[in-house]
Amino acid sequence: QLPKDARLRFAPSPTGSLHLGGLRTALFNHILARKWGGKWLLRVEDTDQSRLVPGSVDSLRSALEWAGLDYDEGVGRTGGSHGPYTQSERLDIYRHYAQELLDKGEAYECFCSVDDLVAIKTALVKSGNHNQGYDGRCRHLSRDDVQQRKRAGHKYTVRLKSRAQKEELPADLIYGKAGSNSNSSGADDFILMKADGWPTYHLASVVDDHLMEISHVLRGEEWLPSVSRHHQLYKAFGWEPPKFAHLPLLINADGSKLSKRTGDVNVEQYIEKGYEPEALVNFLALMGWDHNTALEATLEAKGEGLPYHTRRDGHSLYEIFTMSQLIKAFD
Ligand code: GLU
Repeated sequence: QLPKDARLRFAPSPTGSLHLGGLRTALFNHILARKWGGKWLLRVEDTDQSRLVPGSVDSLRSALEWAGLDYDEGVGRTGGSHGPYTQSERLDIYRHYAQELLDKGEAYECFCSVDDLVAIKTALVKSGNHNQGYDGRCRHLSRDDVQQRKRAGHKYTVRLKSRAQKEELPADLIYGKAGSNSNSSGADDFILMKADGWPTYHLASVVDDHLMEISHVLRGEEWLPSVSRHHQLYKAFGWEPPKFAHLPLLINADGSKLSKRTGDVNVEQYIEKGYEPEALVNFLALMGWDHNTALEATLEAKGEGLPYHTRRDGHSLYEIFTMSQLIKAFD
């Protein structure tokens, strides 16, 4: 049976033109939303203002349009009631929810300077604690102390009181349990609001996925280490988390990551060269799925088999992907 009222999202950061991995993520979100009769939306995640590249949102939207991936809600659409879908236009919302966690005692103000943090990290490493980046010392400041520092105009971040380790994470729909539990980066009291008053990716992403009623978060595996943090945030707010599914990355034949430096990864150039959108979309849809892996068993056991095309030619879950294959396939 299909999930009811499925809502998926594609949430790129506008840091340059769309690359193949991003298009593949968008494609799978699109396919699932359509198969399930659900909705998918486009959300622009631009809270890291230092990484913005002007023009990215326009080129992203035209690449999606070129590929025929029409989203139901989001930037430039009027269909949805959950917007605005650009995070920089939602700062008041994140501030409100950060304050909620402070009020509930789930978060605290941290006044440590960059120098303090370097010294703390060095001390942690020296004492053999390599995983932790911060020792949580500002957790113990008194209310008076906090108010006094605020009045004196000291800059501060807001950190979550971490409960990592104590929480059992639900299985990832693709990676299963091992995937979810393999990350340890949730052990810190991580930052929710930066000293400049902007939210971090973690806070903005969780708040938005909740408010936008996202049922399935389907994104690249580079976000797998964030899952533990996100689950902690859902717990702290008392919200039901969505289901998570992380897609294996497209990689080069030598196992290295596709990157702008190593090859022709931007979608834009295929548009410029006159490729048929169906050809590129079909190619991405066919990459990397194998009927004989445990992957399919995991998904089918849950009654949520993904509608991907698969190939029976022995390619493993971690597809070997080279640009020369792509060129050969189309030229
Ligand atoms: N904004 C993130 C990116 O640019 C997306 C992370 C997510 O989907 O949660 O890849």
